[in-house]
Amino acid sequence: MKRPKLIAGNWKMNTTLSEGIKLVDILIHAQKKSPFKARVAVAPPYTHLSEFRNKLMNSSICLAAQNVSDKLSGAYTGEISVLMLKDIGIRKVIIAHSERRQYFGETNDIALEKIKIILKHEIHPIYCVGESLTDREKDRHYAVVEEQITAVLYKLSDEKIPKITIAYEPVWAIGTGRTATPDQASDMHSFIRDVVGKRFGDDLAGQLQILYGGSVNAANAGELLSMPHIDGALVGGASLKADEFLAIIQAAG
Ligand code: PEP
Repeated sequence: MKRPKLIAGNWKMNTTLSEGIKLVDILIHAQKKSPFKARVAVAPPYTHLSEFRNKLMNSSICLAAQNVSDKLSGAYTGEISVLMLKDIGIRKVIIAHSERRQYFGETNDIALEKIKIILKHEIHPIYCVGESLTDREKDRHYAVVEEQITAVLYKLSDEKIPKITIAYEPVWAIGTGRTATPDQASDMHSFIRDVVGKRFGDDLAGQLQILYGGSVNAANAGELLSMPHIDGALVGGASLKADEFLAIIQAAG
């Protein structure tokens, strides 16, 4: 099955609004000059979203958020609800990034609640999974990722599966400059597809878009993105450099 490639930039807690505008303007300009073949999304900090929505109105670049609350509204100081994101035209949200799992105690159960609430409001999740270095060294990487998939996806109904993007991001490769080899990444993507297929069947598993994330850059993107099970990339550090991010987008098309 031919799945469209998606290149998503996760800006994390980087860029002031004016720095972010400069960066997104370069992407908008590049896309106008030569339309991207791959689908492209950017996930800037919350403070940029409204401004970016206006800028990206007539562009094919999709605007994503880095997180969302698992509650709809109320006394949850500091949280942002799916209703607020929907209101300003957000189409995707990154859920359970390993930094949120590690620093903010985000569990599979919380990820499930967040995914349910955003799907209900027609926003698509990019659900992050991936093992730590210790898990890989102890040969527990398949078990950990299987648990992250079954604890969340297995609790959803069949029709939700095509609306979900998975990002396989081995924690040891995030922001470290150490990338999974194309074979390591592709093996895990194929394993994830098998786990999903066991519960939902091969057809739905075949439609699932699985991104790789972990120190993707202009130099390694081509090889990673040419692997049969790798449907795109979730890019952290390299998405903050316009030239690098554009080269990754180019490598996907
Ligand atoms: C990420 O934060 O999702 C990520 C993959 O970061 P980096 O590309 O910097 O490793």
